[in-house]
Amino acid sequence: MIVMEKENVFGIDVCITSYEKILKSLNDDIINKKKSFVVAINPEKIMKARKNTSLMELLNNADYQIADGIGIIYSSRFRHGKIKKRVTGIDLMEKVCYLASEENYSIFLYGASDDVLSETVNVLKEKYKSIKIVGKISGYNRKENEIVRIINNSKPDILFVALGSPKQEYFIFKNMKKINCKIFMGVGGSFDVISGKLKRAPVWMQRCGLEWLFRLIQNPKRIVRQIKLIPFFVMSIFRK
Ligand code: UDP
Repeated sequence: MIVMEKENVFGIDVCITSYEKILKSLNDDIINKKKSFVVAINPEKIMKARKNTSLMELLNNADYQIADGIGIIYSSRFRHGKIKKRVTGIDLMEKVCYLASEENYSIFLYGASDDVLSETVNVLKEKYKSIKIVGKISGYNRKENEIVRIINNSKPDILFVALGSPKQEYFIFKNMKKINCKIFMGVGGSFDVISGKLKRAPVWMQRCGLEWLFRLIQNPKRIVRQIKLIPFFVMSIFRK
């Protein structure tokens, strides 16, 4: 069994890990039939959780908290921590899809609009030829019980939930016991990117830690969300 070392970032335990290590651990979980919950951590989520103790508890109860946002890396670096590189939700999702296609694990996609969802399935099937996508449900207008029933009938090994945060985390936390699946992963806007509805930041921007800026430019509505939280995150880094 792989021991996942974690570092506390403003109240949330974040994994000190690499893609390789977490993928190995997720594969072990599937083999051992252990249910695992993966959450992507970024400054926006941390600031929301600091105002909401039940969300904080929920995030800390997940099995893997990945360092999705560059702010997590800056914060760790500033305090001489050990989290050196991002493990982004979208890259991990793609790598899990590759693992699934290699190991014949089945996947289920829940979330986003019908069009985005159908295109995400097409793109994944094109990229990972032998991938077994056993079901999909869009993220709007369905009853939770019905969703749980449909997922269980499809018998997936891996469930990706793309409802945005913290909606997807609440859905997983509430229904994890009822759903017969091994890996539960909240993936935010990843289906929008995989389907091509939204563009991923160019690699140079990802390398310079500017992916958040690219996402803001593409979706200015995020500014309203982030302007309320991010300055406090930056202040918290310096206050510590
Ligand atoms: N979404 C959904 N149902 C909802 C609200 C949102 O399926 O009730 C989807 C939305 O279509 C989009 C994703 O959830 O695909 C949210 O992406 P966003 O980038 O806002 O997520 P974040 O990663 O920022 O939390």
